[in-house]
Amino acid sequence: SPSATAAVPAARTVTSAPLRVIGTGAQVPLNDGRTTGYANLDYAASAPCLEAVHEAITRALPYYSSVHRGAGYASQVTTEAYEKARETVRSFLGAWERDAVVFTRNTTDAMNLLAHAVPSGTTVIVFETEHHATLLPWKRAVRLPAPASPLEAVSAADRALAEAPAGPRLLVVTAASNVTGELWPIAELANVARRHGARIAVDAAQLVPHRPLDMKTLGLDYVAFSGHKLYAPFGAGVLAGRADWLRAAEPYLKGGGASAAVRDGGETTRWSADPEQRHEAGTPNVLGVIALAAACEALATTGWDVLKADEERLLTRLRNGLAAIPGVRELTLWGDRGERVGIVSFVVDGWNARDVALTLSGDYGIGVRDGKFCAHPFVHHLLGAPEAPLEDGAGGCGSGQTSAVRASFGIGTTVEHVDRLLDALARIAGRPR
Ligand code: PLP
Repeated sequence: SPSATAAVPAARTVTSAPLRVIGTGAQVPLNDGRTTGYANLDYAASAPCLEAVHEAITRALPYYSSVHRGAGYASQVTTEAYEKARETVRSFLGAWERDAVVFTRNTTDAMNLLAHAVPSGTTVIVFETEHHATLLPWKRAVRLPAPASPLEAVSAADRALAEAPAGPRLLVVTAASNVTGELWPIAELANVARRHGARIAVDAAQLVPHRPLDMKTLGLDYVAFSGHKLYAPFGAGVLAGRADWLRAAEPYLKGGGASAAVRDGGETTRWSADPEQRHEAGTPNVLGVIALAAACEALATTGWDVLKADEERLLTRLRNGLAAIPGVRELTLWGDRGERVGIVSFVVDGWNARDVALTLSGDYGIGVRDGKFCAHPFVHHLLGAPEAPLEDGAGGCGSGQTSAVRASFGIGTTVEHVDRLLDALARIAGRPR
């Protein structure tokens, strides 16, 4: 409706203002009773909220209403903002006009939706190095071992696709590792998939907060990511990609919105043919989606070059610093080959990862993640302990001696944060446990 348009929360939330996150400078308690400024080095788990995102949510709140349902003004405004967010995400990902952009809860949900929509008989090929969200949802999958180089990743995928039986095939790969930050050769993998007439799905959860991604240019069939890793609050994610499988699949959730016609007595006679409606049954996370789209807009408008340059400066400082501390070992799959984003995992000789993380928090005010980062097989491979038992703990994502510590960062991270981590680790590594 024309009257609703004026009040729709503006899609362009940021023009040339530098991006800032909320929470920088927050004080946290230390073990000795003092407080200090929090050094948040856990962005790969969930990145702090951008100020631009906060503003977009605040603008949306007065018109808070359900989408696709009401005729009232607020419903019109909210519906318009929600659908506008879909187009913002489409443009952020460089998805085709004909692609579906389905809002999900997160990347895990998006990958499970894709697994649900894959036609039966599809051969799914996935590397064992994946995050569990991308490794586990498939009913049956060909699992490829960790490749020794990006080139080997491409040839392993090539071989697996060549050996796959006739029928639909789907190669699933993560664009940026949540353990090592290493970038996978997704353009080359997409080429290989295309050559074999297969599709490629990319887990971009750790890529999109750091680098632009263009599905058209790269030839990607599906992309999944989470808002909470992209500087927006929790609860909204995306599966974007080819509509046919999604249109043909049973609704992921059955209920209001997914059904186009329901007979008296309760039988659905027709599910929505629109792939987005079909898989977004129930009232969606409208604010989460508006927040996610505001983050996309803010990042795309600011310019990736600035973000990348800042990040690479900090990454080099951190990696060089770690390499200079005896007893600290960075985990990497491909060493210095290839690009990476601001995620670094490491172990400290003689120390349990959980104790390192707790000491960094309690003694230095530094927040890091420890565990196996929901990528058990990969972390075991990197630690050279592939037979290590799968332990529970740390949110089901592993803990204990066969674990590592991860520092990850982005907008708002400072040289002081990195140096504080390095100073702390130098002390910890010099202090046998
Ligand atoms: N994929 C990667 C590479 C991740 O790092 C994560 C989260 O850590 C996920 C998927 C799952 O994301 P979510 O927990 O938002 O579903």
